[in-house]
Amino acid sequence: MSKAAEKGAQGGQGRLSGTVVLKFGGTSVEDSDALRRVVRIVAQRNQPVVVVVSALAGVTDQLLSAGEQAASGRLSAAKASLHAIQERHSRLAGELLPKTAGEAFQSYLRSECEEAEKVLQGVAALGEFSKRTSDRLVGKGELLSSRLLADALRAQGSNAAWVDARECMVTDEAHGCAAPLREETDLRLCQQVSPLLASRQVPVLGGFIGATVEGTPTTLGRGGSDFSAALVAAGLDAGALEIWTDVDGIMTADPRLCPDARLIPSISFAEAAELAHAGAKVLHPATLLPATEKNIPVYVRNSRRPQSRGTRIVPEGVQPAVRAITAKRGVVIVEARLRRQADAQTLSQVLQACEGHSLHLCSLSRHSVVLLTDSKQAVRQMQRALEDVAEVQGENHKAIVRVFGDRIGRRTQLVGQIFQALSGIEVRLSCPGEGERNLTLVVDEDQAAESVRRLHRLFFPAAATGQPEKELSQAGVQ
Ligand code: ASP
Ligand code: MG
Repeated sequence: MSKAAEKGAQGGQGRLSGTVVLKFGGTSVEDSDALRRVVRIVAQRNQPVVVVVSALAGVTDQLLSAGEQAASGRLSAAKASLHAIQERHSRLAGELLPKTAGEAFQSYLRSECEEAEKVLQGVAALGEFSKRTSDRLVGKGELLSSRLLADALRAQGSNAAWVDARECMVTDEAHGCAAPLREETDLRLCQQVSPLLASRQVPVLGGFIGATVEGTPTTLGRGGSDFSAALVAAGLDAGALEIWTDVDGIMTADPRLCPDARLIPSISFAEAAELAHAGAKVLHPATLLPATEKNIPVYVRNSRRPQSRGTRIVPEGVQPAVRAITAKRGVVIVEARLRRQADAQTLSQVLQACEGHSLHLCSLSRHSVVLLTDSKQAVRQMQRALEDVAEVQGENHKAIVRVFGDRIGRRTQLVGQIFQALSGIEVRLSCPGEGERNLTLVVDEDQAAESVRRLHRLFFPAAATGQPEKELSQAGVQ
């Protein structure tokens, strides 16, 4: 926990574990249908949620060009663009909000647009559109979208609370591309956002915008809402960050170029960064650093197709090396308790005794040999053959669960997670499998499906709606 978060916790507003930060880009809130989709996505969550939202698609560009128009003496054109923006928000409010909430929003909209108009007049008078002025103007886009979304959420029964992001995101004075002051920002988040979460509200903030310590509006640079969302996730020690956009996630290729492109379910931060350099448009992972350096998993998801699970971006160290999980039922554990210490001769006798039966695993200690087989006859055959050497016992109805992943047995952190996920299920044996490419676990047959489900959930978490049946068959339960 950061110092600031600790302070918040001491103030009785500790973080709520499992908080998810949902960031919606401009195209995810571009019109009333899009906004309704977002409202549904938020409403479906039953964990603490914080929403970070961009300006409606196109608005940032329009505000910027309005500023430039004003600076070059075309004030009426600039005002016309501003009115168009006002109109668009007003129309959306009309479609989405009930009367009283609608009126409150309209008056907020009017006052923000009046202020924006004054800014444009100032720009026109000076003939100069400074970065500082630009921040004041373009930040309106996120203020309006966040306020509208918060009201739309409330209108549909979500307990949303609008938060003025400028009061949380504290930055330096580098207008146009300000850098956040992390300690101060974390502290403000704990003071302003955590209490809302604690009282089961859904805080809604505009991305991209902040303010200096003195309260002068700033912005984090174009596309900065992802960065805002990552900062919020980091500051609140969130359990996950979801970047909602208008594509399914990070793809194996650009689907417009290559119709065969597939979704990449999970990718490391470094790989995602390389892809971004190579021209993949989805997002620039550098903006996610505040989240990834705190090991907060990041998902890229499609607000038009929330049923798609998206791409999970994970820091290198914790990238799931796990590729698949399988289960095989009908396994017998055979234990040969040796009457004397194991030596080469007794061992070869034991192995010969199971000739003709397939063996899955063999573990050895001084006085016993444990084998796994799927043949019940093996036990009887061994009992007979080893009468003088060992006492042979068989246990039926076991299953082998395998977790596939490169050198998985050596990755102690993963192994620890695996056992934790299986807590309450008796794991009779475990050992690295062939070529160290899997970890083999033996459980009771009737726990096999549950084990696979739990492990699958651990390594391939469904970001929203899980599909256990499908997962199970993909995970190869036989
Ligand atoms: N609205 C801002 C922009 O268009 C920030 C963002 O969308 O991320 O750059
Ligand atoms: Mg935008």
